[in-house]
Amino acid sequence: MIPSPNHESRAGSRVDLVIIHTAEGATTAAGLGNYFANPAVEVSSHVGIDDSTTEQYVSYDQAAWGALNANHRSDQAELCGFARWSRDEWLNNHRGMLDRAADWIRERCAARGIPIRKLSPADVDAGASGVIGHVDWSLSNIGQGDHTDPGPGFPWDYVIGRASGGAPAQPPAQTSGAGPFPLPRNEYFGLITGPAASHGGYYAWEKPHIARIQRALQAKGYAPNYASWADGIYEQPTANAVAAWQRREMPGTTRFGEVWWDDWAALLA
Ligand SMILES: [Zn+2]
Repeated sequence: MIPSPNHESRAGSRVDLVIIHTAEGATTAAGLGNYFANPAVEVSSHVGIDDSTTEQYVSYDQAAWGALNANHRSDQAELCGFARWSRDEWLNNHRGMLDRAADWIRERCAARGIPIRKLSPADVDAGASGVIGHVDWSLSNIGQGDHTDPGPGFPWDYVIGRASGGAPAQPPAQTSGAGPFPLPRNEYFGLITGPAASHGGYYAWEKPHIARIQRALQAKGYAPNYASWADGIYEQPTANAVAAWQRREMPGTTRFGEVWWDDWAALLA
């Protein structure tokens, strides 16, 4: 713990919100703690999270100073990142921070009896209990302030999915070429017409990943070998090629035609 003097009594308030911020400067939880340790800055959070550590600054029985009139009713974490970061930057280069944030959300929601769900500003105004970004408080009618963190690229779906899905703390073993699986462990690449857990290229960020899968299928001889086949959209021909590869090379597959984390690691190795 790196104690911060910047806190106050909760004045009897019930805690019903979990708030995520980005620190917009500090790149380590230790550095952020040193900043919050200065009484002159008059800001703080309960914890700071970087790619490999989670550091506590303020006791949970106290109100941290991060979100003006939400302070009494919230547990708050500052991520050592920036609101300008893209979704790819978060998912590809700061997975450790996201995983730690998800674990922290799960812990605080359990401790407070808060549902693990992302709230909109309208939900906040309706008095709902859940998880928000600082921006959601700013945009609500009851919230003071104008901060926009953790930014439009923050991958809430990944973080909430992991927080609520109970995914293992350890990422899957990766072979060198594949890189990190870009989805929560309980989701997969599959038909664009599939359920919410099936990522099929509906969103732009999914397409490069699907194109990688398609090119790997081409390289292994499971798909027609012309460039436009790898279009980043997961439709039935892609599912068929994945299933053909799985029958040959992934014995034990139970969900043919879908690329889960283990398929990803093997196919892109
Ligand atoms: Zn903030």
